[in-house]
Amino acid sequence: MTDHESFRADTRAWLEANCPAEMREPMRDEGDACWGGRNPSFKSEAQRRWLDLMAERGWTVPDWPKDYGGGGLSAAETKILRQEMARIGARNPLMSFGISMLGPALLKYGNEAQKKRFLTEIARGEIRWCQGYSEPGAGSDLASLQTKCEDKGDHWLVNGQKVWTSYADKADWIFCLVRTDFQAPKHKGISFLLFDMASAGVSTKPILLISGNSPFCETFFDDVQVPKDQVVGEVNKGWDVAKYLLGHEREMISGMGLGGGANVALGEALKEALADDPVLRADVARFDVDAMAFRAMSERFIDELKAGQAHPAQPSMMKYAGTELNKARHELIMAAGGSNALEWASERSRGGKHAREWLRTKANSIEGGTSEIQLGIIAKRILDLPGA
Ligand SMILES: Cc1cc2nc3c(=O)[nH]c(=O)nc-3n(C[C@H](O)[C@H](O)[C@H](O)COP(=O)(O)OP(=O)(O)OC[C@H]3O[C@@H](n4cnc5c(N)ncnc54)[C@H](O)[C@@H]3O)c2cc1C
Repeated sequence: MTDHESFRADTRAWLEANCPAEMREPMRDEGDACWGGRNPSFKSEAQRRWLDLMAERGWTVPDWPKDYGGGGLSAAETKILRQEMARIGARNPLMSFGISMLGPALLKYGNEAQKKRFLTEIARGEIRWCQGYSEPGAGSDLASLQTKCEDKGDHWLVNGQKVWTSYADKADWIFCLVRTDFQAPKHKGISFLLFDMASAGVSTKPILLISGNSPFCETFFDDVQVPKDQVVGEVNKGWDVAKYLLGHEREMISGMGLGGGANVALGEALKEALADDPVLRADVARFDVDAMAFRAMSERFIDELKAGQAHPAQPSMMKYAGTELNKARHELIMAAGGSNALEWASERSRGGKHAREWLRTKANSIEGGTSEIQLGIIAKRILDLPGA
């Protein structure tokens, strides 16, 4: 056997022996995800055990270095692990903005002390993060942000407001863009700061989505004192860190195009509803072909990314394609369900599952940068179109 074949055989055997049966069932809703954190809540003992077992092997972050709580796996081994997890339908043991967003930025820009402290906590699921980027006057034009961060000698003093901060009311810490120089050109006076959401002067106010959920907040900073060593990278050069992190965020969001890891074609999932409807059947067939193409594109991009050969604007392509695909998926699910799919609160509809998921997808092409912004980046940086 080659090294990779024996790694696959060992991984398969370990997963078979250790992944609890309950953790092989598809997630029913967002509430089935495990987010970890300082005060974690587990839906079941199996969920807790699955996180512990995976974290022990470093497999919550298989390709991070072992020194920071990772599995130390190569890109090829990480891919094999993912394939073997998908084979048995194993759930992701830990949902985490620390893993998908902050971690990669810390690995590139963090100092040794920050990496040792935060990456290890992230890998074990002991800290839950939120992202403080958007402000009421700075969304697509993110570099216009105004949250003020003053150097007070022995600490930073932060004042301002963020908005649309996902899970700010549940997060332990925030990675936050702040303005440290108001005189410099807007991209050059920004710093990337980490701080504890339990700090005096931090408050949050939940905002309701059309889906009926309230996953995000307005976040206010009122004279928040932050230790000096919690800037990542250089002061006033936070825009580089912010952009790098955004690439990883967009890659993560593009994963929605894969339909939450479900390997079942939509045509198969909806086959009863499609039997009498040739028009819908054709639409679903077209969708399934697009989904296969997207899956192939994602695999190629991820391989290129891991090999360090990806174009920096590739995550914009993936984000655009993946989120438009996910919206199309839910439009078709609604069409197949007919008027019953619009039910909002009944037991039969499992509390309006389809309608709420469909409405939630409307945000996919806004969060992490809108589709228009991604198309602008693609036009300029990949297609090199005149005037873009
Ligand atoms: C579900 C959800 C979760 C989110 N979570 C977070 C989070 O955790 N942390 C965080 O910081 N932010 C978060 N956001 C905010 C998100 O990043 C912003 O909503 C997004 O960047 C757009 O900014 P905006 O809402 O201010 O819209 P605007 O920037 O005001 O845009 C309004 C419209 O104008 C269009 N537009 C703007 N500029 C251009 C342009 N140059 N060219 C073409 N069209 C343009 C946009 O495409 C959009 O259609 C979240 C948003 C959503 C919906």
